Amino acid sequence: MNDFHSRHRSLFDPAVLETKRVLLVGAGSVGSALAMLLVRSGVEHVTIFDPDVVSASNLCRTVYVAADVGAPKVHVLAKHLRAIRESVDIDARDESLVDVDDDALSAEIERSDLVVATTDHPPTQARLGALSYHRKPAVFAGVYAEGVGGEVLWTRPDETPCYACVLGAVRGANAPPRGKTDYGVATGQLAAEPALGVDILAVTVRATKIGLALLLAPHDARFAEFVDPTRSVLLVGNRAGWIWREPFETVWARAVRKDDCVCHLAPGASTADLDLDTGDEP
Ligand SMILES: [Zn+2]
Repeated sequence: MNDFHSRHRSLFDPAVLETKRVLLVGAGSVGSALAMLLVRSGVEHVTIFDPDVVSASNLCRTVYVAADVGAPKVHVLAKHLRAIRESVDIDARDESLVDVDDDALSAEIERSDLVVATTDHPPTQARLGALSYHRKPAVFAGVYAEGVGGEVLWTRPDETPCYACVLGAVRGANAPPRGKTDYGVATGQLAAEPALGVDILAVTVRATKIGLALLLAPHDARFAEFVDPTRSVLLVGNRAGWIWREPFETVWARAVRKDDCVCHLAPGASTADLDLDTGDEP
């Protein structure tokens, strides 16, 4: 295993990632692939929360295989991650964050270096945004209905606007919907939307790179351009439409703090208008 990083070493210092812990919430189509990409990149400590079991409908666009059907996602994902790298430390938590109180969740965030939120439950995404904002860097990934594109939002304590401000700006700019609320399962959960696995992966790889950059940038200036706090929204287009003039166009956008928000309370916070400014409108 000594040559695990032989094709990485000139790109970054693998020792930086070895000591980091990532808290990943959501082990579905985005989260499962993102976990494998993180581990292949050299992240060795991952805590994963997801209450679901693998279903046959997951096989077309996740890392799960037929033999995993019926098993808790976190446990089979941990098995697949250990198959990549035996020494990896996976804390697999077969539970919903709905059942984890704020004190316990805050403690999980505190012991992590990066929070990655990839759930299909907007209230959980928002809660992770609020609890992580003053504590640790965080990445939030979401795929739009039918995989037309997706959004990767990221925050860093006190440097960027928080998740609530950014999400408000994105929705205010008429972003495509993420999907319909599924009133049959849990409060506020989104129904599983049709989307090709490749379209989901296009969003996932950008979210992974931003997550890695949040871990590496403090140690390596080559990663700073991916986490410039003046633009904390990446809008990934799989088709032309909305702000994307052509298929595969990817647009960075800037969002600013709202007056009545947790991030406004941060030292050095400033207020401005709430327009989503892509800096590149046709
Ligand atoms: Zn805010």
